[in-house]
Amino acid sequence: MTIDRFHYFLFWICIIGLCFGSFFNVVILRSLSNESIVFPPSKCPKCGNKLLFWHNIPVLSYLILRGKCYFCKEKISIQYPIVELITMLLFGFTFVKFGFSITTLFALFWLSCLIIMTGTDLKEQVVDCNIAIAMGISGIIYNLITAGMSGGLNSIIGLLIGAIILEVIARSGYIFVGTRAMGEADTYVAGALGAIFGKEIILVLFLGLIASMIFIIPVFFYNQFKNDNKLTCILGVLFALSFLLLKTVWQNYYTLAIFMLTGIALAVSILKSIRKVENRNYLPYVPALAAGTLFFLFFSI
Ligand SMILES: [Zn+2]
Repeated sequence: MTIDRFHYFLFWICIIGLCFGSFFNVVILRSLSNESIVFPPSKCPKCGNKLLFWHNIPVLSYLILRGKCYFCKEKISIQYPIVELITMLLFGFTFVKFGFSITTLFALFWLSCLIIMTGTDLKEQVVDCNIAIAMGISGIIYNLITAGMSGGLNSIIGLLIGAIILEVIARSGYIFVGTRAMGEADTYVAGALGAIFGKEIILVLFLGLIASMIFIIPVFFYNQFKNDNKLTCILGVLFALSFLLLKTVWQNYYTLAIFMLTGIALAVSILKSIRKVENRNYLPYVPALAAGTLFFLFFSI
């Protein structure tokens, strides 16, 4: 049986993706605890035993160990195989989409940055802005290489658009809740994506907004529920239900008024709860920006 060159490379890119995913797990964990990425060797967070070499095989080790530490049987976080599989898929998709090209090389770097930042943002609402800066610089270089000076200019314009839009949204929080509505990292990431996509950043941000509605809003209401903020949850469900009946609601002034009032009450109770929570960047937005980037990279270029 012979395998053509494309599938041969696709296979190895997926394997490399798995290994990189494994490395990203370490980066995500250690950047949160300020440990060195290279040293010390991996060990179980519970019992402290150093992992054997066959405990470090991406995905397979998790399956063989059935998700438990070899020594103390403590559960291993499902984060490990998930990050490994996602990295593998994204590396594979990138190669299928862009083939042997300079775009593939850069896209792999951008996706790697996004995976790490999404991981730390979801885990602890912490994002290393240096990663976003590296991404932005690579975006400018990419556009200079592929489209010359006009590409570089487009890149700078995109950077400004992305950073300014997110910064304006973040600062609008001062009007409503007396604090930033989003973390500084979101501005850096949006700026970096602008440097990569140029003026198209507007579309990427829009796709990110849609993604945020799909992913973040359920998470937000789940947090509200956990924090015993039942009122926000009930209002949210009512509002969502009335959205489904929007056509009927729209035709009657009374139901329309109830719909509007529910919406306003919901907005007020959300704003109140944001004011109460100390960790106010707890709406992680980097995952949404990352999802917007994926839509744009794989479905529209
Ligand atoms: Zn252990």
